[in-house]
Amino acid sequence: KLLLILFIWIPTMSLAAPYSIVIHGGAGTILRDKMSPGVEADYRRVLTKAVKAGHSVLAHGGNSEDAVIQAILVMEDSALFNAGHGAVFTHNGDVELDASIMRGTDLNAGAVAGVKRVRNPILLAQQVMQNSPHVMLMGDGAEDFAEAQGLELVDNSYFHTERRRRQLERVIASNQAVAASEDSSDDFETQKFSTVGAVALDQAGNITAGTSTGGMTNKRYGRIGDSPIIGAGTYADNQACGISATGHGEYFIRAAVAHDICARVKYQSVDLGTAATAVINEKLVQMGGAGGIIGIDPQGNVVYTFNTTGMYRASIDKSGQLDVRIFR
Ligand code: ASP
Repeated sequence: KLLLILFIWIPTMSLAAPYSIVIHGGAGTILRDKMSPGVEADYRRVLTKAVKAGHSVLAHGGNSEDAVIQAILVMEDSALFNAGHGAVFTHNGDVELDASIMRGTDLNAGAVAGVKRVRNPILLAQQVMQNSPHVMLMGDGAEDFAEAQGLELVDNSYFHTERRRRQLERVIASNQAVAASEDSSDDFETQKFSTVGAVALDQAGNITAGTSTGGMTNKRYGRIGDSPIIGAGTYADNQACGISATGHGEYFIRAAVAHDICARVKYQSVDLGTAATAVINEKLVQMGGAGGIIGIDPQGNVVYTFNTTGMYRASIDKSGQLDVRIFR
């Protein structure tokens, strides 16, 4: 009898479909010796909450699109990350948000840019994907669409925090002529990118990737970064990989980072880690672009790759192992 049970049980175990999730809360020069244990604990707590929210969707047989949304909502609603509440200010003192989501099943995608009143931009990107014939909406048109879809609208002040206000003042005082990538007002982070993103593989074998951001401190109003650009900040293809990026957006757009990594996996037949290293640690470094990515391949293997000293990141891999990290 025991043998019979083993014969049935072992094959079922090995046939169980893998599922996994990986998230990021931005990359940059994050300095361990300058970060207080309290601040570090806060980041770890919210990263853990976000990755678990997404993983629980997958564990219950839910799809990767819902998992990515649930993980990103936790980070958009937290003041710690540069997305939703707590996002960075433009030079003019407003918050302008960008977000995107892409499904690896059918390569459908949705994105929004420069929205100022939508509480959770990732939900609006999802509505664009699901309920419009378009891929990207911006500004007022995107907000009207959000209202029509019944999403929550808020005053721009909902996104404002004192910490980000001080960062803007510091960057302006340091007299930087261009959109600042240098952010020295947090003493534990100098050059800082704190966009959020998530990539998940569900039990049906579908990959989804999503990204949400306030962009870069002191950016010119109307500036759009890589995060809502499909192929730059976000990409998903069930045949190759799912990617969400964070970093100096202008470089990520020019290097078509997310698509380039998936294309290398698909056409060069290299593994995801090799493809990501070639793009982030070689191509981008040569161009002078700082940042990183998270990714998942169709087997559920999770990758983090960055060329900065740190990246807020977490994953629950296909064996169910939780991993939460900040520094290199
Ligand atoms: N990639 C974002 C942008 O350029 C910034 C970030 O990752 O924090 O808008």
